[in-house]
Amino acid sequence: MANQFTLYSPVKRLKGVGPQLEKRLAQLNLLTVQDCLFHLPFRYEDRTCVTPIKDLEAGQIYQIQGKITKTQHQPSGKKVLTVELTDHSGSLKLKFFNIHTQQLNQFRHGDYLLCYGLVQIWDNALQMSHPDTKQQTNNQFTLDNTLTPVYPLTKGLHQSAFRKLIKQILTYAHNNSHSIELLPAECQTQFSLNSTLSNLEALHFPSPTENIGKLRQQIATEELIANYLYLIDLKTKHIQCNAPRIVVQSEIIQQFINSIPFELTNAQTSAINDIVNDLSKIPDAHRENDNASSTTPMLRLIQGDVGSGKTVTAAIASLCVALNDMQTAIMAPTEILANQHYATFKQWFSSFDIEITLLTSQTITSNKQVIYEGIRTGTAKIIIGTQALYQEQVEFKALALTIIDEQHRFGVEQRRALQTKRIENHHSPAHQLILSATPIPRSLAMTLFSCLDISVIDEKPKQRQPVKTAAIASQQRSEIMKKIEGICSLGQQAYWVCPAISSNEDSDLASAQHTHQQLQTELPNRAIGLIHGKLSSEDKTETMLKFNRNDIDILVATTVIEVGLDNPNATVIVIENADHFGLAQLHQLRGRVGRGSLPSYCILLYNAPLSHEAHARLDTLRKHNDGFKIAEEDLNLRGPGEIGGTAQTGAIKFKTVDLQLDHHLLPTASQIAKWLHSSTPNAQYRLFQRWIQTDNNLSCLI
Ligand code: ADP
Ligand code: MG
Repeated sequence: MANQFTLYSPVKRLKGVGPQLEKRLAQLNLLTVQDCLFHLPFRYEDRTCVTPIKDLEAGQIYQIQGKITKTQHQPSGKKVLTVELTDHSGSLKLKFFNIHTQQLNQFRHGDYLLCYGLVQIWDNALQMSHPDTKQQTNNQFTLDNTLTPVYPLTKGLHQSAFRKLIKQILTYAHNNSHSIELLPAECQTQFSLNSTLSNLEALHFPSPTENIGKLRQQIATEELIANYLYLIDLKTKHIQCNAPRIVVQSEIIQQFINSIPFELTNAQTSAINDIVNDLSKIPDAHRENDNASSTTPMLRLIQGDVGSGKTVTAAIASLCVALNDMQTAIMAPTEILANQHYATFKQWFSSFDIEITLLTSQTITSNKQVIYEGIRTGTAKIIIGTQALYQEQVEFKALALTIIDEQHRFGVEQRRALQTKRIENHHSPAHQLILSATPIPRSLAMTLFSCLDISVIDEKPKQRQPVKTAAIASQQRSEIMKKIEGICSLGQQAYWVCPAISSNEDSDLASAQHTHQQLQTELPNRAIGLIHGKLSSEDKTETMLKFNRNDIDILVATTVIEVGLDNPNATVIVIENADHFGLAQLHQLRGRVGRGSLPSYCILLYNAPLSHEAHARLDTLRKHNDGFKIAEEDLNLRGPGEIGGTAQTGAIKFKTVDLQLDHHLLPTASQIAKWLHSSTPNAQYRLFQRWIQTDNNLSCLI
């Protein structure tokens, strides 16, 4: 029978996928059959063997098999059912809590059970709570012969349902292996890569002895190759285009530099020189003619830790452009940040006759027409906004430079942004500048982005003091309150970060709403603000403005403040449940303070006891203030045995690559990508489709 689907079909073409399941899969960004096939397990359960009861140890997960020799339940109060299971070596108690009345008689004396679960000590004896069970009247259970995959899924999507889909897709894949193998056979041989299909089959359902880490790295290599190819492709197309050559008016730029309230660091100056050179470069073909009006477009990444001062490099780049009577679009990742950039630019450019415009989805409709008009006629020189800049039908008179402030999220969105811009603007491609605080070791960044031009800002402003960091058990909260009160009475401000917005019965994570109320009671004389992702953009902006005006002493927040906020008067940040966050994220959060010349503090709260590993992680943060160094230490703290994707730093989101585990794959992947680019240019489209993003422009190739 012909297949009902191909790799590129929408998931609804799979047997068993109705609208509900389709919706759940979409939540995981699994839209096509191929997306599902490459959605890899993050751990496995071993149900291939059974362990004799006498060999069980507390704290481990086991599969056991035996006969039900006793059942007992408490009829009133909490419904607890105890089942005694006996095999040839001994007996074990199984406990089931809060079970329904009709389930009480489910376990029949004399029947056999196959159980899978965690063994723990309770009342000095071993027991298994809520194991997965299979029951039958004889002792002849069929055991699995492969490990059971456990996938990162979402609420309402069951492991068993997803496993079924994967089996269905693997059957298809097996019969259509040509569509799975995207790397030419000679490439697989030359670089000792297994076939992608055999890797996938073994990753979804591995034999118990499989080297899973190695299999995953083979798949990750393909993903890296796709990413490299994408950047090579981007760069190749980019440099074939022309962009306006910017004539640099050094005196005015110097005037600007003299007017800002600080002295540039050497690293900032050097990044600015790189930008200025890119913008004003005389192309080789015109070497004799320094009046050349066009040049190769800039494609430069400014890589600098939080607080290293990337914004001013963007300001100077846009000043160069404005002085040539052309426009710059600056795209910020959030509205809060767009507002903040707007305020900063307004201030920095106050004595320059340069029109700066803000355009976000919050902009009032009646103002929009005026703003559009300014952009269309060219009076607006620097246009600051969010993604809305792309969505709105904005027409630029003379757009010469696009700046993307993506902070540490060089991910899908950013790549998409680059792509969108390239397509929309293919008649007059703009110079591009990307500001990134991707907290990965520098050598890694250099390899990863090897085909972009990079300027690294590896120096902090001089008067900056390192943020003093302490990890403190939440029992010592009263001391922290004293510290905060002291800081506020000096006129300084604080952030108080919580991992959750509202309280939730299932979790004991601190919630911003609850903490906000609590602080209002504890510090009645202080103005306490609240900001989180569920507030309207207007409310968020309003609260941020108040905080920046110092009308709020303590801002209780979720991680919405993680990205780029700049209030140099905030000198303390308290982070609740700090062990719950990744190191990179904690470092970003800490970057909200220590932005001026005042001494600053970061207090990492945790609920004791802290595991040894969590302790070591928080300690890294305490010892180091440099994001690159922290990324390196983070890598050292993590064992190579971990399966990718489980503990990603959030720095760069890949589907299967975990940069911290896979950095050694980069040179090979880059080599293969270059080889593919020159030898098999058509290989890339299918690879992009698989790994980059199924954007319209790519899906039209299907
Ligand atoms: P990031 O690199 O995280 O985007 P910003 O550009 O927001 O950093 O800069 C952080 C803060 O440091 C801002 O308040 C900025 O005005 C200030 N700043 C930037 N460069 C310097 C410098 N050379 N000396 C002192 N302060 C600086
Ligand atoms: Mg910034």
